[in-house]
Amino acid sequence: MSILVLGGAGYIGSHTVYALCEQGRDVVVIDNLATGHIESVHPKAKFYKGDIGDKEFLNDVFKKENIEAAIHFAAFSLVGESVEKPLKYYENNLSKTRVLLEAMVENNIDKIVFSSTAATYGEPERVPIMESDRTEPTNPYGETKLAMEKMFKWTGKAHGLRYVSLRYFNACGAYKDGNIGEDHNPESHLIPLILQVPNGKREFISIFGNDYPTSDGTCIRDYIHVSDLAQAHILALEYLEKGGESDIFNLGNGVGFSVREVIETARKVTGHPIPAKETARRAGDPAQLIASSEKAKTVLGWKPCHDSLEEIISSAWNWHKNHPDGF
Ligand code: UDP
Repeated sequence: MSILVLGGAGYIGSHTVYALCEQGRDVVVIDNLATGHIESVHPKAKFYKGDIGDKEFLNDVFKKENIEAAIHFAAFSLVGESVEKPLKYYENNLSKTRVLLEAMVENNIDKIVFSSTAATYGEPERVPIMESDRTEPTNPYGETKLAMEKMFKWTGKAHGLRYVSLRYFNACGAYKDGNIGEDHNPESHLIPLILQVPNGKREFISIFGNDYPTSDGTCIRDYIHVSDLAQAHILALEYLEKGGESDIFNLGNGVGFSVREVIETARKVTGHPIPAKETARRAGDPAQLIASSEKAKTVLGWKPCHDSLEEIISSAWNWHKNHPDGF
């Protein structure tokens, strides 16, 4: 039987497809290529170009393929854009996932692993953040992901579907051979933007805010390697295959780094001075986001392997320096 990966041509999706194929699993990828890259799809995976909001298309794939479980990455994920265009996010993330769930229920596919986000918490009450902490998103992106989690919960209760929701912190890094990596257009994430400087694509990196209540005044985030995230999806899938109950897990390293520390590490890794300019805060950025991933470690047996920031940035640099224009 095959594992269906929705959004398998995106950043985290493509790394998970690589990990599944390495495990010898049969993988079917669905992606509309709105933001994904066909070049990032593993050659052993079977690819269908189409939209998860198109039920006829989904039914067609479900009839042709023998799908055991789904892993769902197909969503928009830009916080700023979600504030400007909330309905685009409600349509793409929530409405289309409703169609997907309908098709899954009708075709008796009863297991799904789902990409969620630290943005479901909003401004945290405390760090490290636990799964049981308050969820009060501060933007439509986080709201739609939280609403998706709830849609899974109620669909599960009514129709026997089981899900694992994985709340990622800051995904970064690239596949070990440097052939696939992060390629967003436009790019908005800190590490790829920093690496555009040594790549000659940007003159300096902006530091958004220097007056946060943190050790050096800049925001602190928990950076987690994309391959560690990929492994967590496989463990979540195995957990559901063994009969595990629906549940939610944070995924992070449990260690926070400030924007200044990330830039300093990138200077060390690339040997480039990477000039930085301090600018105004970016709207909606919490001062500190650090995960407690104890639950994922205890219940799923997850163990992140890439916990040094230097190693994470080196792996990202290995991709970006060889692919300055992305795929
Ligand atoms: N950031 C920054 N300059 C940039 C891009 C990001 O200072 O050009 C900061 C941003 O304010 C946040 C951190 O870097 O505190 C990580 O941002 P990113 O967009 O990578 O991830 P997020 O935490 O928003 O998911």
